[in-house]
Amino acid sequence: MSRIQLLSEETINQIAAGEVIESPTSVVKELIENAIDADAKKITIEISQGGLQVVRVIDDGIGMEKEDALLSIQRHATSKMHSAKDLFSLTTMGFRGEALAAIGAVSKLALTTATDGLGVKILVEAGVWRSKHSVARVRGTTVEVKELFFNVPARKRFQKNPNVLSAEIFRLVMQLALGFPSIHFTLISNRKTTINALVCSSFQQRAESLIGVEFATKAFPVEYKEGELVLDGLLGTPLQARSNRLNQYLFLNRRLVRCEFIALTIREAYGNRLDEKQHPSYLLYLQLPTDLVDINVHPQKREVRLRDERLIKKRIMEAISSAFTAPYVESKEIAFEPSSSFIFSEVTPMFEETANASQELPFSSMKPRIIGIFMQYLLLEAASVNPCFNGLLLIDLCLARFRIFYDQLMKSRIEIEKQGLLLPLTMHCTVVEAAMLLTHLNEIESQGFSIRPVGKELFLIEAIPSFLSTVEIKNVLSALCELLQSFIGKSNIEEERRMKLALITANFAKNKQSFTLEEAEKLLCKLYDSSDPGYSPQGEPITVHLKLNEIQNLFSN
Ligand code: ADP
Ligand code: MG
Repeated sequence: MSRIQLLSEETINQIAAGEVIESPTSVVKELIENAIDADAKKITIEISQGGLQVVRVIDDGIGMEKEDALLSIQRHATSKMHSAKDLFSLTTMGFRGEALAAIGAVSKLALTTATDGLGVKILVEAGVWRSKHSVARVRGTTVEVKELFFNVPARKRFQKNPNVLSAEIFRLVMQLALGFPSIHFTLISNRKTTINALVCSSFQQRAESLIGVEFATKAFPVEYKEGELVLDGLLGTPLQARSNRLNQYLFLNRRLVRCEFIALTIREAYGNRLDEKQHPSYLLYLQLPTDLVDINVHPQKREVRLRDERLIKKRIMEAISSAFTAPYVESKEIAFEPSSSFIFSEVTPMFEETANASQELPFSSMKPRIIGIFMQYLLLEAASVNPCFNGLLLIDLCLARFRIFYDQLMKSRIEIEKQGLLLPLTMHCTVVEAAMLLTHLNEIESQGFSIRPVGKELFLIEAIPSFLSTVEIKNVLSALCELLQSFIGKSNIEEERRMKLALITANFAKNKQSFTLEEAEKLLCKLYDSSDPGYSPQGEPITVHLKLNEIQNLFSN
């Protein structure tokens, strides 16, 4: 018998399914894309157990006749393409004709569809037909996928936990909803509605409800057209930049894609408006002639390749610069002015060497002699802290607070100093923020907050960490929610999450403007008891030792 064998149809299907369908999220993506291609105006997605148990996508699109429905679940069956040359003139989301077959190969799939009142229901299990019969249904299609990967245990074992998957699907639906404001999207997860994005007349409106009013109203609008290239959307201001890329949404010919080339071009267009480590926030819709875009480079159509990159780059740069220089923008650009930190950079070298030494400062039990407070700096006589020292110690009280409260937040709940609010504060959130708050409520409360969900996207803040001022609450919670989004799709996050939440919350302790002598003394005591009195949790030196000879040198020439 020859060594080489042709694989059976079943095996081929399973291998193909592995490429297209890697998790419940890819099932949801393919089914929503089919509904969009079918011209649906309303798409409802129901999942349970993060989609591992059930994914159900219901649309009011054009539906299918019985014969088409039977064909649709076979491999390479599509109504969207007839020959290879169509690949370069596609305007639909799908074209490979693989999704339904691939999903059917690794689940128990029920397809119910109708073009009018009488439809058909087809059941497929692990790629094998089970039954078909007529049913009553209004125009549209329902695809129900149960027990995903029940026949591929190896793949099932590698699925993330249901909470992580739910969050991933949440983000996916939110992204697709941003791309199609004229479609009503509803996501129901474990019987709870988590997204209800009603039909909007513009992408700005959708952005307001899904990304937030703050972003949608302050970002720079882009409206650019040159030949067949059209770029619309919103470019975040430099102040809306983030340390990660989660707030970047790019639709290319209506498709949500990852395209490193375009991402880099956009970043380049921001130039030095942003620090090196910052990533701009944006929601952009780019239209290119279909023959310039090759979408057939990734099984899940997530990545694209472009032709004529030079021209595309030139146009995008033009579009973005003109958005930035639109007349009304000027007042917002104040943020780009070189800030006062420029002055400090001259001084730093003098402190650098001594700053490193501060970690070894052996804080003694002597009572330090305080000379005074200048702005946020406490000035001490160095010898009163340690007889081996001379000169002065400068302690940054804001950084000291950062260290002290970070340590507190990292310890146990009991040690956190909270302040109850006499008048609880009402917070209206975006859908995303609400989802993050609800998913991670315990962890956020362990940061010293007491939060009560009171309605959809509405929360009552009843207590906050003692070091926060009430005006900062919304900012802290928004920053925490943004961080939490970066955990979507990741597992084993507990430790990292706790550390990063504490880092963000405690960072706000730096905002105190002035200190009394009494406050400074108390802080000093706590600082000496902290896990590292020398450095802030982000590695900034808290104490700087100005030696006597360095002070003297400043006065000699
Ligand atoms: P593709 O989308 O790449 O064509 P699919 O396997 O996803 O491949 O779907 C196969 C075909 O089934 C589609 O081309 C379309 O004609 C039909 N179809 C799938 N889902 C729907 C739907 N929700 N409504 C109407 N027709 C659909
Ligand atoms: Mg499809």
